[in-house]
Amino acid sequence: MSEWGTARPPVRPVRRTRRRPPAEPPQDPGPPGTPAVAPPELPRIPFQSSWPAPTFDDDPPPLPDDDPVLIRQAATLALATASERRHPVARCRWCGGPFRWVFEQHWLCASEDCAYRQLASAVRRRGMSENQSPYLFVPLPVQIEVEEDMTPNLLVAGAAGTSKSYGARWLAYKFCRRIAGARVLLLRLTYQELERNHLQFFPGEARELGAKYVGSVRQCRFPNNSIIFAGYCRFLTDITQHIGVEYDLVIFEEGIQFFVKALEEISSRARGSEPGRASMRAAGFTGGLVRILSNPGGRAMLYLSDAYITKTLDQTEYPEYDPHHFGHLHTTLEDNPYLPPDYIEKHLSHLSKARFKQLRAGDWTVQVGQFFDFETDLHVARVEA
Ligand SMILES: [Zn+2]
Repeated sequence: MSEWGTARPPVRPVRRTRRRPPAEPPQDPGPPGTPAVAPPELPRIPFQSSWPAPTFDDDPPPLPDDDPVLIRQAATLALATASERRHPVARCRWCGGPFRWVFEQHWLCASEDCAYRQLASAVRRRGMSENQSPYLFVPLPVQIEVEEDMTPNLLVAGAAGTSKSYGARWLAYKFCRRIAGARVLLLRLTYQELERNHLQFFPGEARELGAKYVGSVRQCRFPNNSIIFAGYCRFLTDITQHIGVEYDLVIFEEGIQFFVKALEEISSRARGSEPGRASMRAAGFTGGLVRILSNPGGRAMLYLSDAYITKTLDQTEYPEYDPHHFGHLHTTLEDNPYLPPDYIEKHLSHLSKARFKQLRAGDWTVQVGQFFDFETDLHVARVEA
């Protein structure tokens, strides 16, 4: 008898259900000084030469309105109803004017011509409701320049905080909507970065775009048979995950962090895919595209600078290198009105002079971390004969 006067019922053993392991366990980031070879237990998605055709419950999403009159009306209306809020730091790279806050969600250049250009490239929302912007995505001028650039291999080189992750994902989405059958590879260095910067956003954004995200294989599939493959490439042995497929667009985000071998090998697979070929040709592309988004300061800096910016890649080591197929687009902090006005003071002012120049100005001539920091304008002088 217990102190309460009743016998205690026998204790039933608690049946514990075994937890299913996550589909994609994160990798161990490992110590600094990355080994070139991955541990064998790292998760991989097996290569398949073809993927089952997706089925879609919803109608395909509408393409952005391409009627110039309607777009002009939308630009006029957006600016007429914009709040008084103007960004005190950011400036439109087309006209130098300020940005205005519209629909409580987007920054639009105060010039109607620039606003028209932004909205002509915007992605409209499916369906409308009150107090909601009619647009899912309104690109900034710099993002439109990246989209419109026809250079096969383009380095988008700039300061830290120029909306590269968000821009990379929407570059991929818009490309898939435009190019039927496109095969797009979106890469980060590690799985953790991929998850933090992209995977968590894929399901919701894919739904709004009328696409489907299949988490087990990290793919966004669109009704026009375009696919975004999301991946990582931390170790040299990860390269093989990505070279069994031909791509129409390869995006390296924070490209400076990758092994040069990874940049070389995976870029070579951007030769254009068979499913996307007809649509790519109709859009004026003769092959696939590589877009490397990065600020300076990392292991691939010298290679990217030589190949994409100064075009002085060593001809002995790269005898077939053709500089005409490479280019770069410089971005600045002022391109991004989504940064807080005091971003530089709060988040960059603690940096060393050289690192500040890399992240504030996107200066690719500065090298940090050597015994002495190296700055081209300080340490290089022309020698007169
Ligand atoms: Zn403007």
